[in-house]
This record gives sequence, C-alpha cells and structure tokens, in this order.
Amino acid sequence: MSEYTAAGRFDLHTHSSLSDGTTSPTEVVAAAADAGLAGLALTDHDTIEGWDEARAAASARGIDFVPGVEITTKHAGFSVHLLAYGIDPSHTELLAELVRVQQSRVTRAEEMVRRLSADFDLDWAGVSEAIGPGVTVGRPHIADALVARGHFGDRGEVFDRVLHPGSPYYVRTYAIETADAIRLVVDAGGVAVLAHPAALRQRGPVPLDVLTEFAEVGLWGVELDHPENRDDWLPALRERATDLGLEITGASDYHGAGKINRIGERSSPVELIERMRRRIATQR
Ligand code: AMP
Ligand code: FE
Ligand code: FE
Ligand code: ZN
Repeated sequence: MSEYTAAGRFDLHTHSSLSDGTTSPTEVVAAAADAGLAGLALTDHDTIEGWDEARAAASARGIDFVPGVEITTKHAGFSVHLLAYGIDPSHTELLAELVRVQQSRVTRAEEMVRRLSADFDLDWAGVSEAIGPGVTVGRPHIADALVARGHFGDRGEVFDRVLHPGSPYYVRTYAIETADAIRLVVDAGGVAVLAHPAALRQRGPVPLDVLTEFAEVGLWGVELDHPENRDDWLPALRERATDLGLEITGASDYHGAGKINRIGERSSPVELIERMRRRIATQR
C-alpha cells in the first residue's frame, strides 16, 4: 500500500485558522473527508479552541476525530514542537501553560513587528486586525501582513528573507522545556508525539540521546513520516525509536493555503489510533 493511500487512514497533524492554518476547523475536516481519510487530528499551535467545531464537523461528515494540540517547547535552546493527543481539556496546569505561550507569542510578535517597521510599511494595529479572537499568534500572521502589503510573494519567501531565527527581526517566544511538557501531557491523560524531528528547517535532526531522554520521561511516539523530514536523517532516528518502543506516526502538517503540504499526503493507520486510544484510556 502506498503511503498516500487515504482509505482507513488518519492525518494526525493539521492546523486551522485558530492558529496559523488558513481555513476554519470545519473546512479542515471537509478537506480531510474529501481526501478520503477515515479521520484526523486537529493540532493547532498551543490552543484547543478548535476542538468543538472540528468534532461537530467530523461527526456531520462521518469521519473520526482525535483532539490534539502542537505545543511549543524548547530543549537545549532549540525550539521543539510536541504533539499531544487526548489530553483532558480541563487540566488546569496544562491549560495555564498554553495560555502562557499564547501571551508570550503576542508580545513577541509585537516586538518583531516593531523591528520590521523600521524597514517595512507595517505596524502592529495592521497585523493584529487580521487576527481573530482566540487565535494563537505566530510568525505566519506577520508574513501574511507583509504579503498583503506587497513586500513579498508568499509566506515561504517572507520566512526565508526576514522571519527565520537568524534574522535581526527575529525574537524568541517563551517555551516550556520539552521534558516538562511531556510529563504534563501524560499527567493530563494524553499521549505525546515528537513532531517532525528531522525537519529540513532545523539545523540538524533531534539527537538520538535526546530522543532517549524524551522516551524516559514518557514520550509515546515520534512523527517520522512528515513531508518536511529529511530522508537521510531518518534511518538513525527510526532505529532508535524502534529500540525505545516508540510509535512511529505519519501526518501532513496541513496549513490550508499557508503551506504546500496537502492534507493526507502522509498519514497513520487506524491500528495506531487504536493503540493511542488504549493508552489514553489506561491513563484516565
Ligand atoms: P512561530 O510559531 O511563530 O514560531 O512560526 C512557526 C510556524 O511558521 C510553523 O508552525 C509553520 O507553520 C510556519 N512556517 C515556518 N516556516 C515556513 C515557511 N517557510 N513557509 C510557510 N510557513 C512556514
Ligand atoms: Fe504552523
Ligand atoms: Fe511544527
Ligand atoms: Zn504543525
């Protein structure tokens, strides 16, 4: 079976306009259903605001829904994205952590816009007016404003030119330590999956001893099948993940029109979702 087959499969990593995707949760679900997927997880950055809408839309379209979130974390000074599935949405400590990241993201975006305004026709009022309430703010929103004002052609170009971590306009955001986030996700009854550990835009793959460290504090899986993972970085990670008994997930990281990633272009089998749900059930 080709990895692009959608029947019986789940896309475990998608974004809506509640973070930096360009379409509503309902539209993300519709795209998943139209692609022939059996189900999807909505994993907006640092927010669970889209769950109710996505769950209702999935039910209406007759596909399965897995509640998720992509948590901004850091390890050894590097940004690490952690996917969490099936967390208790009333877990106070985890929710407080998400709010803390969201607030820091606003302050950080304001400062980046302030720096950019020295060289580009841009101000915070103009950027923020396009961001709805309850939305996790990110660099893509700044990119969209710069594109709308005609400074660049698309998000990718803005990232390459002015939004990357080496840029003088770049400002870091607050982030929890990855190991602490993994413990928090487990405490909230969920499972944690390390997102795109060999993504091209990172300086290198997540080191093998770091993967071991994460597994020791409760990591459940690792997203080795992701369009942005570098193929030559994968075999070593796959071998270590297998030795550690980690699950290996596949997902598209769909962002609507915000990225070239097509929904369902990478996916996970229903058997993996069953194992995930059994683990979530035993942690309750
Ligand atoms: P932030 O969350 O503010 O750190 O911004 C990171 C987000 O920007 C990622 O989740 C991606 O969705 C998006 N992103 C990063 N690089 C690119 C790119 N080259 N083109 C489009 N979107 C990107
Ligand atoms: Fe994103
Ligand atoms: Fe990510
Ligand atoms: Zn993502």
